[in-house]
Amino acid sequence: MRNASVHTAPVVVPIAGPPIADGAVAVGDGLLVAVGTRDEVLAAHPAAEVTEWEGVMTPGLVNAHTHLQYTSFVEVGSVTHPTYVKWSERFVDEYENRRGEDWRATARQGVEEAIRSGTTCFADIVTDIEALGVLVDEGVAGVSYFEIIGVDRPAWESRVEQRVTEALTSAPRTTYSRIGLSPHAPYSIDEPVLKEAAALARRLGVRLHVHLAESDTEDSYYRTGTGDLADRVTLRVGRPWSILARGGTGMGAAEFAESCGLLGPDSHMAHGVYLGRHGRHLLTAAGTYVALCPRSNLVVGIDPPPVADFLAENAPFAVGTDSLGSNSSLDVMADVALLRRLAIDGGYDGPDLDRRLLEAATMGGATALGLEAEVGTLEVGKRADLAIFDVDPSLDRVERSLVEDGAGQCVGTIVGGEVRWQSRRFD
Ligand SMILES: [Zn+2]
Repeated sequence: MRNASVHTAPVVVPIAGPPIADGAVAVGDGLLVAVGTRDEVLAAHPAAEVTEWEGVMTPGLVNAHTHLQYTSFVEVGSVTHPTYVKWSERFVDEYENRRGEDWRATARQGVEEAIRSGTTCFADIVTDIEALGVLVDEGVAGVSYFEIIGVDRPAWESRVEQRVTEALTSAPRTTYSRIGLSPHAPYSIDEPVLKEAAALARRLGVRLHVHLAESDTEDSYYRTGTGDLADRVTLRVGRPWSILARGGTGMGAAEFAESCGLLGPDSHMAHGVYLGRHGRHLLTAAGTYVALCPRSNLVVGIDPPPVADFLAENAPFAVGTDSLGSNSSLDVMADVALLRRLAIDGGYDGPDLDRRLLEAATMGGATALGLEAEVGTLEVGKRADLAIFDVDPSLDRVERSLVEDGAGQCVGTIVGGEVRWQSRRFD
């Protein structure tokens, strides 16, 4: 090991344990080699180069649902749309107008932007194959989920399965930056392909990630094959998918996803706004996390997630921003702050609220991506991914300060032991 470096802060919040006043971490070869009080860590590493941060140190944040290649879609994401279907039409127009865009470049811009708000790990959905591998290029942790959308059985069998298999087996990956498969949503892919895609991910040993119960029109789509979403999908495809042609399945979103093999501890969902108690129970029983993306939900004209119910029912969740096509920033802490307000408005005000929201934005996200042994907490042996926030470091309210005031207040971000961003305020 090269000489360790030490980073100190007035308070360190390891997530794996209670906040540490006058804390520090030591880093060697990109990994955490000590976490404790400043005195303990400096005594164990007397020759280390020391950086003294002002603020509160946490693990790097995990953005559990985003599409980094859409970082240029600011015009779509910075206004509120009246309905989900209207937002979806606007989004598709933007995508079509931007055909030929350098998706790799826009995705890299997204990573750089997110690092400035303390995010070091991403569940990134990749629609265009050029953007696969961006997490590896940028040296950040996460899973790049190659997306399939609008696929029926003939297309799957004639070309898509082979193309997806090649992409999933040949894309670059590291210990921290992995590859996954994202069947976009159970309504945007024909049923037999959903089942084939889930089976393919398991054969290849890669993770799954799916948009589920995002729109209020999804439930009638699955149950009876009716509603605005059913009409819109039929219009785009030019004919009804198989479940629409047979008048729906009688199942809600979570049951239908389960029947296609999309749930499990190797999979996580995005949104989950309209799962209902039964749907949340199915996901919890399957060990499937939901990435809640409250600011995105409001932009696309749907309800915010019922986070109070997730908390009260112990349904596992993480936090995502979604893309700049449905959000005004990639700052995970802004979604965390909104979740706090929504939880309280929804009737959840337990004393563990702030701690659980911080867990969701760190360890919860890491677990949703299958990276819980590598990132998500400050523990010896994990990757030295750190964020420092300029918020009130009073020990008795530090978790609340991070949750309420952390947005826009990241002053430093360290990725694999390397300082990747530092606010001028800190100099
Ligand atoms: Zn999304």
